[in-house]
Amino acid sequence: MSGAGPKREVPIGFKPRGTPGKEVMGYSAADVERYVYCPLSWALARRGMSGVDEALQRGEADHAAVGQRIAKWRRILADHHESLRIALYLALTAASAMTLALEVVFLDAHWAYHTLLVMMSLLWLFIALGFLLRAILKEKEAQEVVAEAGLVEGELAYSDLDRPAETLRSEKYELSGRPDYIVRRHDHYIPVELKTGRTPDTPHDSHLMQLGVYCLLVEENYGIRPPHGVLQYSGRTFEVPFTDEFRDRVLETTLRMRLSDMTGVVHRNHERPGKCRGCSRRDLCPERLA
Ligand code: SF4
Repeated sequence: MSGAGPKREVPIGFKPRGTPGKEVMGYSAADVERYVYCPLSWALARRGMSGVDEALQRGEADHAAVGQRIAKWRRILADHHESLRIALYLALTAASAMTLALEVVFLDAHWAYHTLLVMMSLLWLFIALGFLLRAILKEKEAQEVVAEAGLVEGELAYSDLDRPAETLRSEKYELSGRPDYIVRRHDHYIPVELKTGRTPDTPHDSHLMQLGVYCLLVEENYGIRPPHGVLQYSGRTFEVPFTDEFRDRVLETTLRMRLSDMTGVVHRNHERPGKCRGCSRRDLCPERLA
């Protein structure tokens, strides 16, 4: 960074976490996002200096609205699966009754039993068809909800928007996080992160790194590397390939964070006054530009 103004070596008394020589080395995806946005913002947040963030509050409201749609999507999918399950059981029962009816005929036994079994199997078969039709309609309804809400298509595998989800953890990379939602597509699990506010022409670096952490977490928790992650802005959706290069950049960022943690030296990483104007921690920041 070509500096503007003096810098303090250890700004605002930033200290490494943990006891000396045994620092805690775990970061959340949100930590990584904040660090890439501005390391100072990350350091201030670590000291509990959250500031006032109206954009964050608006973002939470938007996330809650999407959460309601995901809850609806989840309910419809549950109905779809339940209908399919019932249709399958009824069809199996009808098939068993029909087999029994045929056996009764071959044994030259009572026609009354035979007729009763055939009638029952036909009845179960019709009810099974009804549930199958319901399952198909529910699947269509789920697709409509996904399209209307602008959600990423696929089978919903995880969501932190409609209810608190389990935090995904990587012991290998000492990372953790909760993506907004994950969809399953052709045996791949795709993390999706929603971003509110202005839609950029290209995704912000901080958002990319956060998504990269989610890709790493999905890789470790689902046992298969995602081909890409998705960043969803209100006006545009970006599919970001999870390439080797991208993966290396994410890990390199976490190494830089560890270095900051160990040395306690953290500085602003940009020369953009506009960024500082939009920063919730500007009132507390010793290096702010605006
Ligand atoms: S005010 Fe500017 S330099 Fe300070 S934390 Fe915010 S973005 Fe970084």
